[in-house]
Amino acid sequence: MTAESVLVLMYHRVGEARNAWEARYAIGASRFAEHMRALQAAGFRAVEASALVDWLEGAASLPPRSFVLTFDDGFRDVRQHALPVLQRLGWPFTVFLVSGLIGQQDLWTRSANPDGVTYPLLDATEIREMQRAGVAFQSHTRSHASLPTLDDEQLATELADSRAELQALLGTPVHFLAYPFGHVDERVVRAAKQAGYRAAFSTQPGFNRRDVDRHRIRRIDVYGTDTANQLLRKVKLGMNDGSVSNLARYYWGRAKSRLQATS
Ligand SMILES: [Zn+2]
Repeated sequence: MTAESVLVLMYHRVGEARNAWEARYAIGASRFAEHMRALQAAGFRAVEASALVDWLEGAASLPPRSFVLTFDDGFRDVRQHALPVLQRLGWPFTVFLVSGLIGQQDLWTRSANPDGVTYPLLDATEIREMQRAGVAFQSHTRSHASLPTLDDEQLATELADSRAELQALLGTPVHFLAYPFGHVDERVVRAAKQAGYRAAFSTQPGFNRRDVDRHRIRRIDVYGTDTANQLLRKVKLGMNDGSVSNLARYYWGRAKSRLQATS
């Protein structure tokens, strides 16, 4: 049996949220552990992002219920709270780093966060230590800019410099990109290919079948407010809405189309 589609989950910060805005991006440590246990109990198993891309390229097979776990931005608390949980499970994961802000803070959120606070990002020593523990690091650009707003030169710099800086830091090739804020258009995709990225991750929700655009890989946005059951519904539906009513709409839609097919 081989997978027909593969889900990619997107997390950000793993730690307490201080307001409702943060609650979307920050998941408490114990809730994160519950999420992973729920996925494991449902038969899911995390695989490397590179295994997904190999699978998309037809170069590898993946068992059903394989999924890819990603963390955007490179928050320091991923090391503290997520790494131990994932090491116990033996599950690989990928962190997308902002190469110009290594060891600094998520400055791009300051104006959006109602409390105006920022959080620490992993520094070079922590990144190398996590790399030795098997964590994969890829690019989230140089400054977390909204790429479609940049001119051609700035765009090329964000993409190429980030890749070069991370390769120098990691001593390994960087093949993948996650678009900041999920902002992407045709020109950005062309520039990402030109900068040498083999694949790129969007924030468009949905299942990834083999025909998905490798530079627009879909991801489910996991909110800090999602209970384990909401997460399992998201994973079932391939949608960001993990409410019971959304699952009910899904079953109703399937039942209706079956009735129509038989009438
Ligand atoms: Zn980001």
